Amino acid sequence: MKKHTREVEAKLMTFTCQWCKQTVTQLRLPSPHSYCSERCRTEARREQQKQLMRLRRAK
Ligand SMILES: [Zn+2]
Repeated sequence: MKKHTREVEAKLMTFTCQWCKQTVTQLRLPSPHSYCSERCRTEARREQQKQLMRLRRAK
């Protein structure tokens, strides 16, 4: 098994949750879409899928 020479660093980041718009500071890996909690991530994904379905239906 190969050992990672360098792991992706989690950093203390302050960001605005894409779902509830709260500004939070969390130790996390850098990512383009940031949510303050699993719940927000789940809710946002659900809403995105709903909108996609709506768009498909509108065509
Ligand atoms: Zn949130």
